[in-house]
Amino acid sequence: MTVASAKGLVDVARSRVEWRPWVALLDAVREAAADRAWSETVPDVPGRQDPATPLLADATIALDGRLLRRWTRRLLETAAASGGAAATLAAASRAAADDVVALFEAGLAHDVATLAALARRFGADPGALAAVAALLPTPLLRACAERLGARVAPTWARGYCPICGAWPALAEARGLERERRLRCGRCAADWPSTWLTCPYCATAEHTRLGSLVPEATRETRKVDTCAACRGYLKTLTTLLPTAADELGLLDLATVELDVAALEHGYARPSGVGAPLRVRLQPRAGGLLGAWRS
Ligand SMILES: [Zn+2]
Ligand SMILES: [Zn+2]
Repeated sequence: MTVASAKGLVDVARSRVEWRPWVALLDAVREAAADRAWSETVPDVPGRQDPATPLLADATIALDGRLLRRWTRRLLETAAASGGAAATLAAASRAAADDVVALFEAGLAHDVATLAALARRFGADPGALAAVAALLPTPLLRACAERLGARVAPTWARGYCPICGAWPALAEARGLERERRLRCGRCAADWPSTWLTCPYCATAEHTRLGSLVPEATRETRKVDTCAACRGYLKTLTTLLPTAADELGLLDLATVELDVAALEHGYARPSGVGAPLRVRLQPRAGGLLGAWRS
């Protein structure tokens, strides 16, 4: 796939009427991620990375309460405006400060039980709330990846994100060498991986690894599958790294690959690859310190 056709896929995602609600959320994330205020919340991390531990593991993040509430309200209102089940998120957008923090933490940790409890408390559709909560930490995580990317151990060889611990959203077969690069759908991190190894269970038994290759896109996109863990990963051929802002749209535009994988009995692993156990605390000092300011 050339860069132009990757852009073509992004344009396809924008043109589909039924995807507009999701595209509106991704646009809100893009705008929020451009806000430099998030970069002030990037925590300090150990200078030398453990080979199995994401950089943000056990970090304490000092967040500006107003920034957090403004962003949470914006994302929930954007989702609610699309109607349907998501309309139930309108009440959540007026949630108390403590609940906003709980929602952010649950989104960061993929904490399904807490998200279900919060949905009951808000009277919100649980599926819609979980989908929005997964996007909520994205501006913070993007700022972290931008600032901390150079601190990732050059020998990082895990299938999960070296910064935020999420499983990859997709893989790129990049450049003329077709180097395999995994991309995080949350922080947009970009890390190397060897071909013929499952990023989820690390099996390298070639008889267990396969591909689903749609006839129409043979050279440009496919699904890599693993019979050992039943996981799958989409692979797109690119010349250059996909821009952080385009990853979500590209993931959306290639949903036919997800459908094919699911039809063949494969699934993306649930949850995150490595838990972060991040602690949030209000940023000390100044007008914006307290959660309830
Ligand atoms: Zn990540
Ligand atoms: Zn596997």
